[in-house]
Amino acid sequence: MNSLPLDLLVPPHIKRFQAYIPSKPDEELKKIYRVPRIFRLNNNENLLGPPPAALQAIREFPPPRAAFYPSGDAYRLRCKLAERFGMHPDQFLAGNGANEVIGFVIKAFCRNGDNIVTADKTFAVYEWVAEFSGFEARLAPLVDFGFDEEGMLGKIDAHTKILFLCNPNNPTGSMWNRERLRRFLERIRGRQIVVVDEAYAEFVEDPGYPDGMALIREYPNLLIFRTFSKMFALAGLRIGYLAGSKEVVDIVRRTCVAYSVNSLAQVAALAALEESREHVARTREFVRQGKVFLKKEIAALGLPYVLGEGNFMMIKMPMNDALAYRKLMTRGVMVRSMTAFRFPDWIRITISHREAQEALVEALGKMLTALGPGIEEAG
Ligand SMILES: *Cc1c(COP(=O)(O)O)cnc(C)c1O
Repeated sequence: MNSLPLDLLVPPHIKRFQAYIPSKPDEELKKIYRVPRIFRLNNNENLLGPPPAALQAIREFPPPRAAFYPSGDAYRLRCKLAERFGMHPDQFLAGNGANEVIGFVIKAFCRNGDNIVTADKTFAVYEWVAEFSGFEARLAPLVDFGFDEEGMLGKIDAHTKILFLCNPNNPTGSMWNRERLRRFLERIRGRQIVVVDEAYAEFVEDPGYPDGMALIREYPNLLIFRTFSKMFALAGLRIGYLAGSKEVVDIVRRTCVAYSVNSLAQVAALAALEESREHVARTREFVRQGKVFLKKEIAALGLPYVLGEGNFMMIKMPMNDALAYRKLMTRGVMVRSMTAFRFPDWIRITISHREAQEALVEALGKMLTALGPGIEEAG
């Protein structure tokens, strides 16, 4: 048998890259950690579930339709989005989660030797997709837990094609207001594509939050990302989209794989939009109450935390975050360990329902008690 010449076949940027390891299914984890149930607080999902209209659309989906390809370009959904935002359907592009559209944009604009610019501590997928595609990700450090305008501008060179801004930022919840985003776009002067990832837009309560969609008219180099995974609780169906000027979206469309968004996701997303107002209000209230409870309880435990916009919160552990993850898992609470986000010793948790939050607080309390007064456990 011939040996596989992987050393020659695999490009250096793939050799360097480490695969993302997703968590095991609950049934497996329950056995490993010997717990009767697991609260998943690791993915910023909406614990209230999808809007009733989306649930109904899923229930009414005719199973035989599984035999047929979906609309290849999410036609009806794009029409609905156009109506909602006062834009043209061709200004939208749906993907298999917002994660997929990150790849579309990078493929559309980067060639050999090009780079992207983003923050060092933000949603890691921009950096990952750039790197495994063979492009450099230039990272500007956060300042006061927020994106730094000067830092980002300072990283730009002649090979920079795209800037990724996460607004509000996952995982810190920091936000750029209208003036700040506009000033940044003015300074870019259309020389690069600016992506503003608004995955948590529907959660934002701050009245100064920019209307990204409206800015597209003034800034044709602006692309907005949105997802149905977070507020609309359709993460399992994988659907997100980007919006931009027609000229830019026409370019991005060339790199996108038709049929990547399944039929069920398309009908559920459409229904979710039709009934969004009440669902958004209910979810915001749920998140608001969850934050009040957690702020009080986490402060009582004496742990530093970072909490802003969005349905998540970061907490600083008096130990290594991988160790904290395992300890919390033995009490049935799954959190996100933040070393991969360059926040060693921090965890991120989803704002959840009372039962899960109480389980988290209790598990943290027991963990701290086990550490003893003033003893810092090495990682
Ligand atoms: C969750 C998330 C996404 C990706 O969502 P999809 O499930 O792929 O639609 C994109 N950006 C940020 C900041 C997120 O937190």
